[in-house]
Amino acid sequence: MTGGERLSLSVTPETCAGTGVCTFYAAGTFELDDDGRVSIVDEHGDPDDDIRNAVEACPTRSLRLGPSGGGRP
Ligand code: SF4
Repeated sequence: MTGGERLSLSVTPETCAGTGVCTFYAAGTFELDDDGRVSIVDEHGDPDDDIRNAVEACPTRSLRLGPSGGGRP
């Protein structure tokens, strides 16, 4: 079975509280820099379900998952 849809991932480091929840769920996708702000290491670094869990678990909603192709500044 082929899953076609690719999701695009974006983060808002400005609102990240550095809880580490996202790196717990998806350590191959997110990392925290020295200031404790989230960044993306690899957009597809973990299974989609893990990434989705991380996005949903973020307490500050600093992670966003949506259909690819959206190009907001
Ligand atoms: S779960 Fe949210 S608040 Fe916590 S480190 Fe990740 S992006 Fe930041």
